[in-house]
Amino acid sequence: MEKMKKIAVLTSGGDAPGMNAAIRAVVRAGIANKLDVYGVLRGYKGLISNEFIKLKSTDVSKIIQTGGTILGTARSPEFREKEGRTKAFENLKANKIDGLVVIGGDGSFAGASLISREHNFPVIGIPGTIDNDLYGTDYTIGYDTALNNVVDAVDKIRDTASSHDRVFFVEVMGREAGFIALRSGIACGAEAILIPELDGQVDKLMTFLADQGKKKKSSIIMVAEGKKEGNTLEIARLVESKFPELDVRVSILGHIQRGGSPTAYDRVTASRMGVAAVDALLNDQRSIMVGIADNDITHVPLNKTVKLHKTVNPDLLDIIDLLI
Ligand code: ADP
Repeated sequence: MEKMKKIAVLTSGGDAPGMNAAIRAVVRAGIANKLDVYGVLRGYKGLISNEFIKLKSTDVSKIIQTGGTILGTARSPEFREKEGRTKAFENLKANKIDGLVVIGGDGSFAGASLISREHNFPVIGIPGTIDNDLYGTDYTIGYDTALNNVVDAVDKIRDTASSHDRVFFVEVMGREAGFIALRSGIACGAEAILIPELDGQVDKLMTFLADQGKKKKSSIIMVAEGKKEGNTLEIARLVESKFPELDVRVSILGHIQRGGSPTAYDRVTASRMGVAAVDALLNDQRSIMVGIADNDITHVPLNKTVKLHKTVNPDLLDIIDLLI
């Protein structure tokens, strides 16, 4: 196998706070190992349109504390097609790139796994998504920051909920998975948590509201956007119709969840994963994700991260049964 000389890094899919810390770590670890490091602009889109820029150590100064991604990110329908990925591979070869680091979520990894297999090209994935819904890693970059953003917002909503005796439905991100709703709900002391992984939660909520009767009128109900038993507004309307005495409000947190400065945890995790990704390329790994399990770096085949689904931690489900 030829010695690795040049590597490239890109960010793809939804942006997540801490992606910059990961880019910085890849660039600096690469340079420390005498590699040339290139950034690809706007994810797979830039890979296909040949937008490579050489990155020096100073190009990644003072970005560890910033949200978003300095390389930009995009969605690329072309990359879903074999021809698009072949064009991307040709650009990698033309730029003499020996290995690629992809920072993104499960969609990005599906593409990464395909280009790696189709062209026998080394690609290492770094999990970057606020949703934390990637198999094979306890944490994804951006999740901790998103959780803290949610907790911050809900603490503020709680003030008004308590003052006015209101029931607030707070919708958070997570189309397929309820990781954000579950963990932030526990952190905020929510009175109920509705997530796609659990059935029968709406019935449980109705029982809870009926039981609490006249005792307590303010509550926070955390709802993951992908809840199966109707969307947040529908569930809120149902509650309103059954309990007309309650003052029901809905707050959809939206994109504030993914913005802002990454937490210390996300910065450190991103730094560890960036270094591990370069290390993996130098050790001839070809199609893996670097993840975190029990606080250690792990290597998981990319195709496994795509095919398998991460499940919510049963301990946390037990906790909500006891504390809520
Ligand atoms: P995320 O990585 O955050 O899950 P997306 O699902 O939007 O974000 O995926 C990002 C990009 O990855 C897509 O725009 C597309 O170029 C590529 N991609 C996603 N799914 C596939 C797939 N099944 N095959 C090939 N490429 C894919």
